[in-house]
Amino acid sequence: MDKKVNYYLKSLQILDEIKDLPKKPKLLLHACCGPCSTYPLTFLCPHFDVTIMFNNSNIYPSEEYHRRLNELYKLLEYLKRDYGFEVNVVERPYDNENYNKDLEPYKDQPEGTTRCFICYEKRMDDAYQYAEENGFDFFSTVMTISRQKNSQVLNQIGEKLFKKHPSVRFFYSDYKKNKGIDIAREMRIHYDLYQQLYCGCKYTYEKGLKKLEERENV
Ligand code: SF4
Repeated sequence: MDKKVNYYLKSLQILDEIKDLPKKPKLLLHACCGPCSTYPLTFLCPHFDVTIMFNNSNIYPSEEYHRRLNELYKLLEYLKRDYGFEVNVVERPYDNENYNKDLEPYKDQPEGTTRCFICYEKRMDDAYQYAEENGFDFFSTVMTISRQKNSQVLNQIGEKLFKKHPSVRFFYSDYKKNKGIDIAREMRIHYDLYQQLYCGCKYTYEKGLKKLEERENV
């Protein structure tokens, strides 16, 4: 079995490399929702000029997509008030039907396997391309904060995309490390952010409904 790479340490190495630059580098951060953006923003904003890209056509149904986007804006207002972070958001058009065409052949697979790896890469590639076209220095994704997502695979995809878009460095991450996941949870509760019950796609939507039912029957 391949040895796991410590991507948290790799992120610290990059922070050390850039610490004496006269100006903060520009970083495009792919974000899937407010709760997952909490800790990554507190980690990145002191070192980078951060812009968020919300490109998540995987989310089903559209009401859920807009709810997650609104929660992200709510979080950014709080972070501006409490930390002074100024973070802009770039929104991509929402097109769940087309997005699902690449995922459909893997619809019956469990979460965390091929369908998800395709889903990570589609969204990261789209955002990475935007970063390249718009003069960003770095690209990162908040998705490594999640226990349900494979950080090794996410960072390997990032490395691959860096080869495709070489003017933008990939910022390695494992945001869940160093208590990141606990801090994210505390921030979600503190700011009363909506916690989604499923990852996002229509293939996990049923699971979310079931969880909701269980909660309501307690
Ligand atoms: S479970 Fe999440 S990562 Fe996997 S395909 Fe669905 S939305 Fe994408």
